[in-house]
Amino acid sequence: MSVSREELKKRACEAIEKNRDKIIEIGDSVFGEPELGYKEFKTAAKVKKVFDELNLQYEDEVAITGIIAPLKGKESKVKVAVMGELDAVVAPGHRCADKATGAAHSCGHNAMVASLMGVTYAFAGTGIMEELSGDIVLMAVPAEEFVELEYRNQLKQEGKIHFFGGKQEFVRLGKMDDIDMMIMQHASSKDARGILGCCGTGSNGFLGKLVRYVGKEAHSGGAPHLGINALNAATLGLTAIHMQRETFQDKDHIRVHPIITKGGDLVNVVPADVRIETYVRGSNMDAIMDANAKVSRALKAGGDAVGAETVITDIPGYLPLVVNNDLFDVMYENMKEVFGEDKVLYEGPAMAGSTDAGDISSIMPAMHSNFFGSEGIAHSSNYEIVDKQTGYIDAAKCMAMTLIDLLYDGAEKAVKVKENFKPLMTKEEYLKDWGKVE
Ligand SMILES: [Zn+2]
Ligand SMILES: [Zn+2]
Repeated sequence: MSVSREELKKRACEAIEKNRDKIIEIGDSVFGEPELGYKEFKTAAKVKKVFDELNLQYEDEVAITGIIAPLKGKESKVKVAVMGELDAVVAPGHRCADKATGAAHSCGHNAMVASLMGVTYAFAGTGIMEELSGDIVLMAVPAEEFVELEYRNQLKQEGKIHFFGGKQEFVRLGKMDDIDMMIMQHASSKDARGILGCCGTGSNGFLGKLVRYVGKEAHSGGAPHLGINALNAATLGLTAIHMQRETFQDKDHIRVHPIITKGGDLVNVVPADVRIETYVRGSNMDAIMDANAKVSRALKAGGDAVGAETVITDIPGYLPLVVNNDLFDVMYENMKEVFGEDKVLYEGPAMAGSTDAGDISSIMPAMHSNFFGSEGIAHSSNYEIVDKQTGYIDAAKCMAMTLIDLLYDGAEKAVKVKENFKPLMTKEEYLKDWGKVE
């Protein structure tokens, strides 16, 4: 006799509760040892330790540090991936910042690792998979934060990656080929209304840009007239970008936020090598491409004005995140059960930030849900998960319950999600048109 859906959910939540100390320990341990994208070796080792403990088969070193562990159902009608991100950002003033790199978990990805481990405990060895008509694929994914563009460009030139985002690499490497849909969670800061969960939001997409101004060195005191000042070129280029802002329309949510990563070599030498990294963000691709043309034109104007060479490299960033109402419907019911109806939002306001979950959502149904367990400003030194019940434990329960709903009863709900989905592009179009993969 088959076990009821409610019984399976209860069993999953009990397994998560039984392992709550271990889940909290791994979440806190990852928080204490933050690593930047494509360098998450210690974090990956922590995930593998849990998989080893549970005797799970897995593939590691996917896109350098990624790990994939498939869990088989009684039949394999549908395959659902659950993703957790391994990487941190840079916030050197953070209490747990890495002394050498300045890396800190100021985006709360440690909560993703914790809740992914919670989902693992829910399904590994609990007999639940034997009642489901689809497979679950646990994915620990590197490099969500699109940072250190020069370093990643180097990895690209060495042939170690092509895309700068880990989920994008999973697509390129064929790891998403047999996956039908993806679910995940991201931490959000506590909300004055007491909201604890949200099925997701739409988000901006963006294009990345690496800019290099090539000038000419000379003695900055003795003979600056013999040099070409690349820092002056950059200053003008950045100012020229600001002159474009009145043409950006509110509806498109354009954001351009450059940083200078190299401003010169030595104070008494005319700067001849100045470098900038920037994103050009927007809510839709047409607006991003339009703003990008203006930004490139502005940057080049700076170089032209002083006679420096302007070298611009455009890099595929992330696509806008697509909301999937069919997946939201399933998650929403479970969030209401865990938190109570008044503490849950169906869809939050669109994010001006971006995620490579947007790329996944363009080619298959995907859900980037939010759990409000953190405090402080994201990407700053005061951010951390303060409510671990919500951020680690309940997030895992909601995802586990959603997976059971999707794959129970002949995977009826997952099949419906799959059938209703219209991709924005195929994998081949994605790689060729967006990724410029030859
Ligand atoms: Zn972030
Ligand atoms: Zn994040």
